[in-house]
Amino acid sequence: PIATSEIFKLAFSLQAKMSRPVQAQRLEGIDKNIWVEFVKLAATYSKVNLGQGFPDFPPPDFLKEAFVRALSGENHMLHQYTRAFGHPPLVKILAQFFGKLLGRDLDPMTNVMVTVGAYQALFCCFQAFIEEGDEVIIIEPFFDCYESMTKMAGGTPVFVPLRPKAPKDGKLMSSEDWKLDPAELASKFNEQTKAIVLNSPNNPLGKVFSRRELELIADLCVKHDVLCISDEVYEWLVYDGKEHIRIASLPGMWDRTVIIGSAGKTFSATGWKVGWTMGPNRLLQHLRNVHQNSVYHCATIAQEAVAQGFQREFELYGKADSYFIQLPKELQQKRDWLVQSLDAVGMKPIVPEGTYFLVADISKFKSDIPDVPDSDEPYDSRFAKWMVKNKGLAAIPLSAFYSGPHKSIYNHFIRFCFAKEEATLKAANDILQKWKQEKTSP
Ligand code: PMP
Repeated sequence: PIATSEIFKLAFSLQAKMSRPVQAQRLEGIDKNIWVEFVKLAATYSKVNLGQGFPDFPPPDFLKEAFVRALSGENHMLHQYTRAFGHPPLVKILAQFFGKLLGRDLDPMTNVMVTVGAYQALFCCFQAFIEEGDEVIIIEPFFDCYESMTKMAGGTPVFVPLRPKAPKDGKLMSSEDWKLDPAELASKFNEQTKAIVLNSPNNPLGKVFSRRELELIADLCVKHDVLCISDEVYEWLVYDGKEHIRIASLPGMWDRTVIIGSAGKTFSATGWKVGWTMGPNRLLQHLRNVHQNSVYHCATIAQEAVAQGFQREFELYGKADSYFIQLPKELQQKRDWLVQSLDAVGMKPIVPEGTYFLVADISKFKSDIPDVPDSDEPYDSRFAKWMVKNKGLAAIPLSAFYSGPHKSIYNHFIRFCFAKEEATLKAANDILQKWKQEKTSP
C-alpha cells in the first residue's frame, strides 16, 4: 500500500508542474534560426570554414596592444562600469571621426551611443521605433535578423528584392548587377511604413549602393516621412575604388536616419562585440531608453581599446598606413583569389563590390546533389549541408537571406566568407579542384 504522505507528494508534484504556455506571443514564428544549425554543422564537419562571417586572422597589433594596455595599466577604473551610453573616450572620438566624414558637428553625448555590437544597435532601433501595425521595408537578400527583430517588435516586414540582370558580354556577374526596381520599391511605401532598413555594403551580396540608388531611397523616405535604419557595418570594406556613401549625408536624411557601425567588422575583432549608433538626438534618445532598460553598459576595456584604435585612424586618415586603407586592399586580393578558385571549377561567383562575402551560383553542381521534389527545404540549403558533410567545405545558403516565399526562387546560390588567411583560401581551392577532377573523371 502507498502511504498517504506519498500520495500527497505525488499529487503536489503533478499540480506543481507548470502547464500554462510560457512562450510570449512575440516569439511565434521566429524560433528557427539557420545560424544555430549551420554553425554546428561547420563545427562538426568542416575542414575549411567559409561559412559564418568572421576573420581567421588577428586584429591589427595596435588594437591588441591598446587592449592589453587598458587591461594591465594603472587605471584600474577601466575594470568597472563606465558611462552607460558609451565610454566617454569612445563616443568622443566616434563623434570627431564621423562628424568629419558627415560634415556636421556631432555631440558625443547625444548623437552617439555605444552598443553590444551592431546587433544590439539594431535591436534598440526596432524596439524603439516599431510597434503593432507598423510596416518595415527590407531589401532582399538581407541580414536575417532584420525580419525577426521587426516581428518581435510587433511590426510587419515588407520585402523588396534586388533583381539580378546577367551581364550580356559573358563577363562574371557583379553585385552591381543586382538592382532595385524603382517602381517596385515605391509601391512598398504607404501610410503604415515606419522604416526602411538599408544595408550598404550589403551582406550577403556585397553590393555597394550607388549614389543614384541611395537618392531613390532617400526621396521615398522624405516623401513618406519614413525612418532609415542604415546598417553600415562593412563601411570600410569596399573594393575597386568604389566609394561608400552614407545615406545620412543626403538632403533630408540626417534627421530620419540611425547609422549603425561595428568595431568587430571595422577592426577584425568580431568577438569584442563593440558597436555603435549615430544620429539626431530626437531619435537617439529613444535608443538610449531601450539600451538603459535592457543592456545598460558595455564592456569598458573593449571600448577603451576601440577608442584608441579610432584615435590612431583619425590621425592616419587617408594615409597608406591607415588600417581602413590596408584592410580593404588585403581583402580585395583575397576576394580575387576566391573568385578565381570558384570560376575555375564552374561555381560562378558574383563579384562583390564590398563586404567580405561572396555569393556563388551552384547550378552546375546540381548533378552531384540531386533535387528532392516537394521538399520544404530550399535546394541551396541541402547543397550546403551536403558540401560540408562530404567535402568539408562550409558555406551558407543564400535562401537564408530571403523571406519565406522567395526562398524557393533564390535557391541556387551559396555565400562564402573570404576574410581568411591565405592558407585557408588555398585549402578551399584544393577542395574545389579535387571536387572538379572527381566530377570530370569517369
Ligand atoms: N549587420 C550586418 C549586416 C552583419 O553582417 C552583422 C554581423 N554579421 C551585424 C550587423 C552584427 O554585427 P556585430 O558583430 O557588431 O554585432
